[in-house]
Order: sequence, then C-alpha cells, then structure tokens
Amino acid sequence: GDVLVEVRGLRTSFYTEEGVVPAVDGVDLYVRRGETLAVVGESGCGKSVTSLSIMRLIPSPPGRIEAGEILFEGRDLLKLSEAEMRRIRGNEISMIFQEPMTSLNPVFTVGDQIAEAIMLHQGLSRRDAMARAVEMLRHVGIPAPEKRVRDYPHQMSGGMRQRVMIAMALSCNPKLLIADEPTTALDVTIQAQILDLMRRLKAELGMAILLITHDLGVVAEMAERVVVMYAGKVVEEGDVYSIFRNPLHPYTEGLLRSIPRLDETRERLHVIEGVVPNPMHMPKGCRFHPRCPYATDTCREVEPPLERVEEGGAVACHVAAERLAREVTV
Ligand code: SF4
Ligand code: MG
Repeated sequence: GDVLVEVRGLRTSFYTEEGVVPAVDGVDLYVRRGETLAVVGESGCGKSVTSLSIMRLIPSPPGRIEAGEILFEGRDLLKLSEAEMRRIRGNEISMIFQEPMTSLNPVFTVGDQIAEAIMLHQGLSRRDAMARAVEMLRHVGIPAPEKRVRDYPHQMSGGMRQRVMIAMALSCNPKLLIADEPTTALDVTIQAQILDLMRRLKAELGMAILLITHDLGVVAEMAERVVVMYAGKVVEEGDVYSIFRNPLHPYTEGLLRSIPRLDETRERLHVIEGVVPNPMHMPKGCRFHPRCPYATDTCREVEPPLERVEEGGAVACHVAAERLAREVTV
C-alpha cells in the first residue's frame, strides 16, 4: 500500500542538567494509508517521544529534534513553519492521549470544546458546529448526546471522556490519528469498548492509526503492523502475524513471553530480566546485550543495524541476522 508518513533517521534529545538524554536515537518507521501501526516497548523506550516529534510537540527547551526527516505525504514536517504545522495538526494529523482529563479544559462544556475545534478547522458557524458536536458524540457512542453536550468533563466517566477526545480528534477527518496509550487508564471492559470504537471508526473513515502501547494484547487486536522499540531505537518491525508467530529479536521474544496466558492456571508471568538502560550511559554495542540471553562478544562491541528481512520486516540483531542467513543458504 502507499506510504502516508515516513520517519527517517529521527533523533530527538533532551538537554537536562544531568546531561543529554538521547530519547530517540535514529528511528526509521512508516505508516501506510489506512493501516494501524503499533509502536510497542517498555516505558522510556522513546515511543511517546517519537509520536510527539511527528506532531512537533516536543517541549523546547529542554527537547530538540536534532536529525532526521518526517515525510507526511512526501512533505518534510520538520521543515514547515509553525503556522503551516498548526494547519497539519488537527486537520491532517490528530492525537489522543492516555488521560483525557489533562487535554480537556475543565471550565468549558464538552460541547463547547468539540464545537471550538470544528469551528477552527471547518469554518462552521457556532450553531452548526454545536449541531455537529452532538452528531460526533452520537457517533462515538455517547448516549443522549443532546444532553451530554452540555456536561463538563468532570461530570463524565473516564471512558466517556476518552470518547469525547476521540470525537474531537476525528472532527477534522484526519488522515492519521496518533493514539498514545489510549486505553491504559481505563478498566478492562471500557478498554474493550474504546478499542472497538476505534476499529469501527477507522473502518468507516479510512484513516491510518499510529498506536503507541506497551500492551501486546491491544496490538493483537488492533494492528496490522508492529514496530518494537528498545532504548530509543527500532529493534524489530514486521506484520503483526509474523511478529507474534516468529519474533526475530530476543527482546520481542521476551515481550511476547511476558503476556499472561489465559490457559495458565498459576501466575507464571515471565518478565525480561534486568532494566532498561540509562540513556545517558547506553551500553556499547547492542543496547540490549546486558539483558540478552544470546549475547556474544560481537554484541558487546558492535551495534547491530536494522536490516530488512525477506518476509518484508526488519530486525536489528547480529544473531537473528546470522540465523536468517543460514536459513536462506540451506
Ligand atoms: Fe542479543 Fe546480540 Fe541480538 Fe543484541 S545483537 S539482541 S545482544 S543476540
Ligand atoms: Mg508514553
């Protein structure tokens, strides 16, 4: 399919008093039109910083996008003026976050806030925008929308607030929706409802979704492709089926083993041993080597590049690359 957004060699750092934190360190990924790409990894791996970089919402200072390109329909977003970027944000690309309370304004009704977004981007009158806000609330499954439109955010449950955020994000008909842990703060039942809603809306509206999550259950339900990040880098990429069936990177393997299985009676949650490295003191060679059961001397010295594999994915691992090469020759 055709590529909507392509991130090339993205490097985003934070300049703190303790030193420079290279939160994202040479990330390559792409999202095709209409697909859901999940970006997974433990917290601090750079997945949120990647999405905020795409939106150009990195707080600066202390943050700085230092290198790379973010091509949206072929245009490099990093070269646009702030005014041009504002037109892209909330028109072509919108974003929803984990905790909608922080993105909704407590002193305005949800109707006012959705209408405001609609007026800003579609140039409708206040009255028409309000009517459209009611329609949007109905669309995201809020019962009695003509009443709820007058609610303030605190009068709604967490699940309802997330629906409002989705309504706002979609009111401009974006080509790309970035969803950063959209259901993490919600209980399981509500989480399933919101994921359902996102799937339905995606099918109806044909937008692409960049889904940031640490939850592989969510990935399995939502995504067509997966990018796995570790310590500021992409370590594996592939279609969801290959990743779950045949993970190539030891870190991906470890993540998959950490999913609790329904058929396991006892708690046998496997966790990857060790901790995510301090980004100010990255291990030499492969950044995963201190935690990797397959690490060799080469791994401790030489950083493995992200290499394409035949099936169409990519992996950054010396041992996986060697194994694949052997499989090809025999
Ligand atoms: Fe493990 Fe080496 Fe592969 Fe890194 S390159 S993941 S240390 S086997
Ligand atoms: Mg995050």
